[in-house]
Amino acid sequence: MAGQKMLKFVDVERDMPEKRPPNLRKEDFGEIYAEYATAKAAEQASRCSQCGVPYCQSHCPLHNNIPDWLRMTAEGRLEEAYELSQATNTFPEICGRICPQDRLCEGNCVIEQSGHGTVTIGSVEKYITDTAFENGWVKPIKPHTERAESVGIIGAGPGGLAAADILRRRGVQVTVYDRYDRGGGLLTYGIPGFKLEKDIVMQRMQQLEDGGVEFVLNCDVGDDLSFDAIRGKHEAVLIATGVYKTRGLEAPGVGAEGIVRAIDYLTASNRKSFGDVVEEFESGELNATGKKVVVIGGGDTAMDCVRTAIRQGAESVKCLYRRDEANMPGSMREVQNAKEEGVEFVWLSAPKGFTGDKVEGVMVQKMRLGAPDASGRQMPELIEGSDYIEDADLVVQALGFEPEDIPTLWNVPELEVTRWGTIKAEFTTGQTSLEGVFAAGDIVRGASLVVWAIKDGRDAAEAILEYVNQGAAVAAE
Ligand code: FAD
Ligand code: SF4
Ligand code: SF4
Repeated sequence: MAGQKMLKFVDVERDMPEKRPPNLRKEDFGEIYAEYATAKAAEQASRCSQCGVPYCQSHCPLHNNIPDWLRMTAEGRLEEAYELSQATNTFPEICGRICPQDRLCEGNCVIEQSGHGTVTIGSVEKYITDTAFENGWVKPIKPHTERAESVGIIGAGPGGLAAADILRRRGVQVTVYDRYDRGGGLLTYGIPGFKLEKDIVMQRMQQLEDGGVEFVLNCDVGDDLSFDAIRGKHEAVLIATGVYKTRGLEAPGVGAEGIVRAIDYLTASNRKSFGDVVEEFESGELNATGKKVVVIGGGDTAMDCVRTAIRQGAESVKCLYRRDEANMPGSMREVQNAKEEGVEFVWLSAPKGFTGDKVEGVMVQKMRLGAPDASGRQMPELIEGSDYIEDADLVVQALGFEPEDIPTLWNVPELEVTRWGTIKAEFTTGQTSLEGVFAAGDIVRGASLVVWAIKDGRDAAEAILEYVNQGAAVAAE
């Protein structure tokens, strides 16, 4: 009986895959969590209580069929578990690694609520698809029939790639344009290898290429190729360009040498991991080796920067954040990992300015938490006379990202945007104000999560298929 294998949460404790010790993991950019052994994955999956109303599933943006693939894993039916898992998630092995599970599926597991420790959903999800790749169960895409219609996708991040996958499976001709020299978007050049190793992303790129998706890389749309040209070439277009404009500080001395943007810093480091020659890294501009590093910000990007600096051999790494630990937007798991690796957090501190033409220090103002704002979040207030200088010879600004001004850059004023500059798109289909043009991922939501970009890309692909089918039906009349 299937049921006998499950409901083990009372006897079996929650057990995450082994984490490499900090002194070893900070020597390289490899992932810090090991893989479950088969027996361990089955054991951990068997803790699930097979809820009739699974809150884990309703809080997963993709509504993954979690209880069923956990049961199959516990029963040793791994190939079936893989088939079920990939039916709703284009990149389960990626989500299993980098979703903030504590805020999504695992944070809503009833076992967690009853004090037994959540089922380790993310680690099992990763295990299932890693095993599928190892065993050759992940096959190149082979559409039943080829269609004449083509779709152009601008942006090879998770949103664009998820849409490419769905469209190609239905036989549509797909071309993905990206300004970088490799696909993957932030999976490749933003998120560091210690969270997501690069060969995991590249094996998906290979699968899409083998399945007939055409990639046009090193192609900055609006510069190398016009948006109109892409529109003229394809029946429909998907914009999945993400958000890349750095929210910068405005403070005296901010233009000094040695004050850099998080995206540039992380991209240089990720390129090094690919073995590329990166001039700004070799020159020391984007390299923390031997430096006193201060990272400004409290989100996941800031956590990725501090942990990268540790691995590059910085003399010291401090994270400056204007609220306290409890109010940090970054995932608690990542803050804990950073602390273990030697990052020092300077809470309730904001930069007021910088000293030196080549940066020498950050002028820091101490803060306290005051009355809550309209959202209920306590606002930081200055403590007069508490200023001091924090020594620094590399400062990384990690204060978030905003959309670029696409209508102007691409000369399409008719493309409507919101007051935040994100593209205005219909919620479930991604349809924009332009006929046959859809949008998905961060460029619609603002800076968000990989799993939401995948969801948007999949939804937009279904809407594009409907649009293309209508066009084909009209043409046939
Ligand atoms: P992107 O991944 O940004 O991809 C957009 C692509 O469009 C890029 O390849 C870009 O080169 C291309 N492009 C842009 N403009 C043009 C143009 N004009 N012409 C051609 N191509 C263009 N999310 C998580 O869930 N977990 C995490 O741990 C996590 N960590 C993160 C760490 C960092 C440092 C950052 C910055 C983000 C992180 N995120 C994380 C967020 C996540 O990466 C994004 O939400 C997700 O990648 C958005 O996907 P997307 O497809 O919309 O855009
Ligand atoms: Fe959890 Fe993310 Fe997987 Fe959904 S996709 S089950 S939220 S890890
Ligand atoms: Fe299993 Fe937890 Fe989901 Fe319930 S909420 S089905 S126990 S993983």
